[in-house]
Amino acid sequence: MVRLVLVLGDQLTPDIAALAVADKRQDVVVMAEVMGEGQSVAHHPQKIALILAAMRKFAAVLQAEGWRVAYSRLDDPENSQTISGELLRRADAFGASEVLATRPGEWRVLRDLEDLPLSVNLLEDDRFICREAEFAAWAEGRKQLRIEWFYRDMRRKTGLLMAGGKPVGGQWNFDHDNRKPAKRDLLRPRPGDVVPDAVVEDVLTLVESRFGHFGRLRPFRWATDRAGALAALAEFVAERLPRFGEEQDAMLEGEAFLSHAVISPYLNLGLLSPIEVCRAAEAAWQAGKVPIAAAEGFIRQVIGWREFVRGIWMQEGPAYLERNELGHGRDLPAVYWGGETRMACMAAAVGQTRDLAYAHHIQRLMVTGNFALLAGVAPAAVHEWYLSVYIDAFEWVEAPNTIGMSQFADGGVLGSKPYVSSGAYIDRMSDHCGGCAYKVKEKTGAGACPFNLLYWHFLNRHRERFRSNPRMGQMYRVWDGMDEAHRARVLEGAGQLLERLDRGEVV
Ligand SMILES: Cc1cc2nc3c(=O)[nH]c(=O)nc-3n(C[C@H](O)[C@H](O)[C@H](O)COP(=O)(O)OP(=O)(O)OC[C@H]3O[C@@H](n4cnc5c(N)ncnc54)[C@H](O)[C@@H]3O)c2cc1C
Repeated sequence: MVRLVLVLGDQLTPDIAALAVADKRQDVVVMAEVMGEGQSVAHHPQKIALILAAMRKFAAVLQAEGWRVAYSRLDDPENSQTISGELLRRADAFGASEVLATRPGEWRVLRDLEDLPLSVNLLEDDRFICREAEFAAWAEGRKQLRIEWFYRDMRRKTGLLMAGGKPVGGQWNFDHDNRKPAKRDLLRPRPGDVVPDAVVEDVLTLVESRFGHFGRLRPFRWATDRAGALAALAEFVAERLPRFGEEQDAMLEGEAFLSHAVISPYLNLGLLSPIEVCRAAEAAWQAGKVPIAAAEGFIRQVIGWREFVRGIWMQEGPAYLERNELGHGRDLPAVYWGGETRMACMAAAVGQTRDLAYAHHIQRLMVTGNFALLAGVAPAAVHEWYLSVYIDAFEWVEAPNTIGMSQFADGGVLGSKPYVSSGAYIDRMSDHCGGCAYKVKEKTGAGACPFNLLYWHFLNRHRERFRSNPRMGQMYRVWDGMDEAHRARVLEGAGQLLERLDRGEVV
């Protein structure tokens, strides 16, 4: 009996679970480009193009390896434009009643598969270093889930940067050597752009004609196959990894990538594996090409954060997407969709997101995320934005980062305190403030940096929730120590700013 083997657009790994158990001689691989997915949120055009081009190339690889692939193109008139619809159509055509599928990274897609009137054999996605049961066992009985303990277990499990059961260099975490403000005077190699080939060009034309979502499609710079992804990894390790750690939190006008890896889309599509990117960083350290702090910092992001957020997403289930612990309900301000703003840091982060579908972690967390949290935007709206606009955005990784880490909407499942800051942090880590219409040193009045006003407004309105948090007590003491008239002016200024946001005025 023929079985259908579903391969989704972020499952482009030749030995992914469903392919690993399928039989090339009789089973049919189903891959489908569908509007239902392309429009599930307003995905950035570059993200749609990346996925479609990478799917087409992956299908060609499978065919060359002898697989029968039933591939639905977006513009195929027979295309039902949903994954379920395409599975049913193929089931009918091939007389199949069974589907082999690897667990999808979105609860919505999982529900659709479970609702199919076919027998669906859902297999665990084993591309993660930490398996589902392993995370559950690790989390069991812990009062708080903390990344550092999880990370150490992943180091022990993988043996990365370990010698004789101990961390190399004598410590687990070299963060104190990292995270310096960026300097402009250094020569900084930018990641190379991949010139679109014929397959990519076809897809770009298709995306141009079908999707009018926020974001520029061209220039399109991404690799769309394994060879290109491997080249991007090699280039990162050789050219940017040495300074990865020290520049991890820095922001510079016009320098979107700094020393970041820019490999998350390749990892998330399955073109690169987490263990191989870590081994590459480890090998560069072993060869004396990069400092331990850089290699360790990078490996921590991948086997620590990436695996940790995935574990939380699995553990918390679909209800996590609705979490709103702080009761925030404001609409997402227009600036997020490219509306005018006088804030230099927001203009840089959103402009870059529109042009490149990329912003690095600190821009996402401490600029756009911080602003949304301080302003009290509804977490579901923030989640939808992050899921839409980034090249690497897939629910399993985006949702815990947004709802948990960035918006504290899970009440502390992922992090022990909200990531909020005033303008001083952005000023320290970036060169945005010098050219901003607002003054970062001003704490009150019309010219004050909005982050300064909103920061205290946030702390003040959530006093009951956070004042006994040991990591926040100091800030409440600072606030309480301020002159009462000053505090009133800060709160009044913040209130006016929020009213302007609500009226859709430029902030
Ligand atoms: C609000 C918010 C939303 C985010 N949404 C996504 C998303 O949709 N998809 C996504 O892959 N990452 C997301 N992240 C995490 C992180 O910002 C990106 O992984 C990173 O910016 C990708 O760029 P890079 O490859 O240059 O990463 P680098 O900074 O060079 O880091 C190296 C790798 O580590 C991994 N990594 C680092 N931090 C995280 C993290 N917090 N969670 C998971 N993996 C991490 C990524 O795979 C990344 O490629 C989000 C972070 C925040 C604060």
